[in-house]
Amino acid sequence: MQELPELDIYRAMIAERFAGAQITGMTIHSDQLFQDGQASEQDIVGQTIWFVERRAQHLIFHLDNGKRLLIHLSEGANVYSSSVSPEETEDPSQASIVIRFGERQLAFYGLRAGDAALMSVKSLEAYMKEFGPDPLDKRLTLNRFIERFAKKRSALKTALIDDRIISGIGTVYSDEIAFEARLRPEVKVSSLNQEEWERLYAAVGTVLRDSITHGGAASKPLFEGDILTGGYAERLRVYNRDGHACERCGGTVRKLTVGGRKAYACDTCQEAGAAPSSRDNAEPN
Ligand SMILES: [Zn+2]
Repeated sequence: MQELPELDIYRAMIAERFAGAQITGMTIHSDQLFQDGQASEQDIVGQTIWFVERRAQHLIFHLDNGKRLLIHLSEGANVYSSSVSPEETEDPSQASIVIRFGERQLAFYGLRAGDAALMSVKSLEAYMKEFGPDPLDKRLTLNRFIERFAKKRSALKTALIDDRIISGIGTVYSDEIAFEARLRPEVKVSSLNQEEWERLYAAVGTVLRDSITHGGAASKPLFEGDILTGGYAERLRVYNRDGHACERCGGTVRKLTVGGRKAYACDTCQEAGAAPSSRDNAEPN
């Protein structure tokens, strides 16, 4: 799974390793990987990466010709950095795209058609308009956050993973955020009151930042010896914990289906009415 925390960590580690490095080769193993069929190797090979950015679930490489190489990492995708030597733990021929930097390489696995693009700054901005704001963007105040969900009739989980509303949250963190906020994943967002919106808004920041601090929950390291990636996996409190005791209340975490997707929630402390109705009630934990 790749959601905002995982991509944030990849971004930082890839920038540390490859910013300032020149792309010396590129192999594309996946058909129609590039949007509009434009696999323009000559526009990419020879370029130096100046900066690596994350926006929604994309890594964006700023090339020195002014173009942006965009790679979308969906939930099943991953990336691995290694030397070009044959002693690989991952087989680069299974990769969707391998980008080489002299003796080093960056291989992306599990990309789908259209997950890569080479764009001008202008077309990138136009493309990114389809995505909602970054949940950790300081300009996303509580009021703006609530406005993004206005008129939505969907369930909380469905709305949280809709990247046109806010970007970068997927199936794992939507459950963790709902748990942190003590809200049911299936509750209709139109029914939330002001105090519940405040809890939800706070929970988004708390969960995503906590995950970034602990390395995210990605199952694969970025490189051999990478001990940061995945540290948050053992800290997940409801996701994939069907039948386990809730660490907050001792109730049971149950799997359910929300908007056609699996979801996990505590059957006790996330029940409607279980949350403190005012700030006078006992503080959680
Ligand atoms: Zn509980």
